Amino acid sequence: MVRLYRALILLTLIAAVVAPGPAGTAEVGVTGVRLGEHGATTRFVLDLTGRVDFRLFTLPDPYRVVIDMPALEWRPAKPPGGTTALIQGLRYGLFRPDVFRVVLDVGRPVSVRRLFFLPPADGQGPRFVLDLEPASREAFLAEKRGSLTVAALAPPALPEPSSAERDKPVVVLDPGHGGVDPGAISPGGTYEKDITLAVALEVRRQIEAMGKFRVVMTRERDVFVSLARRVETAKAARADIFISLHADAIKDKGVRGGSVYTLSEKASDALAEELAQHANASDVIAGVDFSDKSPEVANILIDLARRKALNDSADAADVVLAGLAEATSLLKTSRRHAGFAVLKGPEVPSILVELGFLSNRQDERMLGQPAHQRRLAQAVARAVDGWFGRNRR
Ligand SMILES: [Zn+2]
Repeated sequence: MVRLYRALILLTLIAAVVAPGPAGTAEVGVTGVRLGEHGATTRFVLDLTGRVDFRLFTLPDPYRVVIDMPALEWRPAKPPGGTTALIQGLRYGLFRPDVFRVVLDVGRPVSVRRLFFLPPADGQGPRFVLDLEPASREAFLAEKRGSLTVAALAPPALPEPSSAERDKPVVVLDPGHGGVDPGAISPGGTYEKDITLAVALEVRRQIEAMGKFRVVMTRERDVFVSLARRVETAKAARADIFISLHADAIKDKGVRGGSVYTLSEKASDALAEELAQHANASDVIAGVDFSDKSPEVANILIDLARRKALNDSADAADVVLAGLAEATSLLKTSRRHAGFAVLKGPEVPSILVELGFLSNRQDERMLGQPAHQRRLAQAVARAVDGWFGRNRR
């Protein structure tokens, strides 16, 4: 009873803070972020230039606290150093074009003790203050906030192609990660999400220059896109081929080179398994609540790829790999299989290209070079052309 009472107070408090106040606008900036410990309480503070509306909710397994705000400008140069006993990680970035998300990784169940805005004072803007304290799992689950409607999972609205474009084969390019999910981060501070986007945009440029194909991107900017939405985009665009681009990191820093994956329920080896787990964790990292997921999306995610698409995928992977061999060094076993979620679109031939490893010094340096990005893009673009030439005549 005491617990229920406390939960009610909390919900009332949150409703009050979330109730429409001065409208949040894109002009609001975050100028500082701080973590502190006071006894059993851990305090998370955002220094703001103005008040913003926000929503806060929690997700279990792993335990996370998620704060969504309108698109805002994040000014701190880097995340606050260090962690606390409760807050073991902090990620932030655009979740959707209009939603900025902060995800706190909490190592154990927590409860929101206090949540408030400190009014502007001493030349400092308003401060967003969140106090967390340890709680039981039971209490954590009981206090779970009303879940966010994840518009990122709605079927994507794609522009109608012009009549000249309508009959062209469709290539869907999927730059891995984005927004709140940076993907791998190299020791030198390179984000995988930036590499995948840069290369994908260059692939698009080169493929469009051929004049034979229509290119659809799952994202064109630094924004989070759920794995389900990536698959749905391919479906909605009636993709003839789906190409996901990644440049992941693994524990073994000596491993370098490109590789190409097709779907398999069973990973071809430990490295393939490690990469698939990393890529599939994207939605967990971004705080997607899968309890909202429509059954249709769930089916897509668990559906096995059909045999025809699998054969086409294998064929496309071979062609892309041959192209990559001319642009970069390859992993020793460069044709691999793993259960990547984005490869599970049931009808679309789908491949996942690892452009190299951000965990490897040499690969990291090359992946950051525009000239190398162009070479990689050219390899993929030419391979696409070659694959269609063989399959669609
Ligand atoms: Zn990745």
